[in-house]
Amino acid sequence: MTTLFIATANGHKVQEIRALLGSDYVVLSQRDTEVRLEPEETGSTFAENAGIKSVTWASYLAMDECGLGADFVLADDSGLEVDALGGAPGVHSARFAALDDGRKGNSPDAENNAKLMRLLSAVPEGGRTARFRCVLALTPVTPGLTPDALADATRCFDGACEGRIATGAVGQGGFGYDPLFVPDGYPASFAELGEAVKNQLSHRAKALAKLRSYLDPRPAGPTR
Ligand code: IMP
Repeated sequence: MTTLFIATANGHKVQEIRALLGSDYVVLSQRDTEVRLEPEETGSTFAENAGIKSVTWASYLAMDECGLGADFVLADDSGLEVDALGGAPGVHSARFAALDDGRKGNSPDAENNAKLMRLLSAVPEGGRTARFRCVLALTPVTPGLTPDALADATRCFDGACEGRIATGAVGQGGFGYDPLFVPDGYPASFAELGEAVKNQLSHRAKALAKLRSYLDPRPAGPTR
C-alpha cells in the first residue's frame, strides 16, 4: 500500500485529508515524527508554497535514518480569495490579521475572521463572492535526489470551491474561515454543514480527487 506523509502542522487539514483518502493509503503526518521543519512560505502562489513544503519534507524523509518509510510527501497550501478585496487574503490567509502589525507567524482564526468582517462591513450580499482554493503538491521520497530534482519530480493538483462570505460567523465545525464561508447552492456555512458535507464539495476534496486519479489511474470498477 502507498504511504503518504502529510506535511502540515494543521490537524484539521490532516483530519480532512485522512477522511478523504479513506483506507486506500497509509497516511502519516507530522505527529508521527518529533522533527519539526518549518520552511518559510516565501512563494507568491499556492503552488509555490505547497512545493516548498513538500520538497523540504521529501528531502528530509529521503534520508535513511528517519525511517518513516513514506513513498510520497503531500503538502497542502490553501486559502480564501474574496473578490471585493481583489483576491485577498489569498496566500496570506493564515496570517491575514498579523499583516497589519508585522507580527511573524500565523494569526488566530478569530482575528483573521474579525478582520475579514471589518473589511467587508459595507459590502452588500451580492458583492461578497469568494472562493477557497487548495493546491496539493506531491513529491516522491527518492533518496539521492537534490532539492532541485525533487522539485522537478513534484506534481501539483488544484481545487476550488465557490461561495460567498456571510455577514457573521455561524457554526462550530471546521477551522479557519469555515464559519464565514457559505458554499454556492447551500444555505449554511461550512462550519454549520459539517465535515461530511464539506468533504463532498470542498477545494481540498476536489484537489485530492485529482491526486488520487494520478496515483491510481484505474477507473473505478463495478462494486460487487
Ligand atoms: P496554509 O496552512 O498556509 O495553507 O494556510 C491556509 C489558511 O487558509 C488556513 O489557516 C485558513 O485560514 C485558510 N483555509 C484553508 N483551507 C481552509 C478551509 O478548508 N476552511 C477554512 N479555512 C481554510
